[in-house]
Amino acid sequence: MSTFADLVKQIGGEYVDVSYIASPRFNPHFIEAKPSDVVKVKRADLFVHAGLDLEAWRWPLVDATGNAEVCPGGSKELDLSKGIELLEVPTTSLTRAAGDIHLYGNPHYWIHPENTKKMAETICNKLCALDPQHENIFHQNLEIFSNRLNPKISEWKTQVKPYEGQEFIAYHNAWVYLMSFLGFKIELFLEPKPGIPPTPKQVELVENRIKEKGIKGIIHSDYYPSNAADAVAKATGAKVIILCQNVGELPEAKDTISMIDYNVRQLMTALQQNGETKS
Ligand SMILES: [Zn+2]
Repeated sequence: MSTFADLVKQIGGEYVDVSYIASPRFNPHFIEAKPSDVVKVKRADLFVHAGLDLEAWRWPLVDATGNAEVCPGGSKELDLSKGIELLEVPTTSLTRAAGDIHLYGNPHYWIHPENTKKMAETICNKLCALDPQHENIFHQNLEIFSNRLNPKISEWKTQVKPYEGQEFIAYHNAWVYLMSFLGFKIELFLEPKPGIPPTPKQVELVENRIKEKGIKGIIHSDYYPSNAADAVAKATGAKVIILCQNVGELPEAKDTISMIDYNVRQLMTALQQNGETKS
């Protein structure tokens, strides 16, 4: 994904040549890999992925390369979910037949600034193992990246502090990590289950919850159909908030840090605008 490509570039600098398969303009769960992608992965020195079942399309892709090194456990693959504290790990075993696409815990872990730090470290360690000659440079780049990210983490925390505990609605359950970082929450989604489009019954539940709790925003992504969110916004007065989960999804998300910054700004704007209307 483009966010991972950005992180690898930040750490690898001039010693890496990075490209990505999942375009940020599409839902990362459902990407159709092209034959040229198979060739790209087959020849890559490193294949970085989200692990879990975020990219279920990844399994046939790595199989098609016929290259064991980029397959799970291979020396040229990097699962960025390693070392991340996952949220919403099911306690009972779920089945994909029910339509659920988050079977191993919520796989959208990369939209959390502390996890970003962890992922940057994981990438740095892997690059050092693959290219020990440039170890010092990778570590320096990691430090530069952390020095940019750390003050932003404090800034974001301070900005959202007065709004602690605010609840939002989202189309897809992709924001639990960002919400937990910001001290916000989401209890209900337009999708009745991850991967299942909104039903009239679900839309009604959402509208009732917005009215009952005074919820101010419906978090949406550009690649989902907007009719359900727009209808709910119209019926309730809540605002549709477009957030990004990948670098390049919107022009404002130039890199990982500016993407998180954009998301925080959007949430704050929705909270503040609605606050003003009320007073
Ligand atoms: Zn998902």
